[in-house]
Amino acid sequence: MVPELKVVPPLGIDTCKHDMRDANININTWESLAEDHRAWKSAGRGGVEGAEADRMEQLVQKGAKRKENISSSTATGFVCSTCSRDCHSRIGLHCHTRKCYT
Ligand SMILES: [Zn+2]
Repeated sequence: MVPELKVVPPLGIDTCKHDMRDANININTWESLAEDHRAWKSAGRGGVEGAEADRMEQLVQKGAKRKENISSSTATGFVCSTCSRDCHSRIGLHCHTRKCYT
């Protein structure tokens, strides 16, 4: 009796497709592009540079959004009356006040 073999896709194939999508390489036609070595290298380099630029732009936007959220959350109203520290929450102010008064 021969055990049935399962066909398991190799690890990382989805990662490769994901990276090719990020690099603006068509995942359905990449094999024909790869037959021409120079075209493949050129597409890879250009795609990686574009993907890296997009990634950096997303990081900058994410950081700006995070800073915006922090600056808008400073006006919480939970400020210590002794040292003017903003504790961002009622429980935080309660815990801080216990240490600040003693
Ligand atoms: Zn305080």
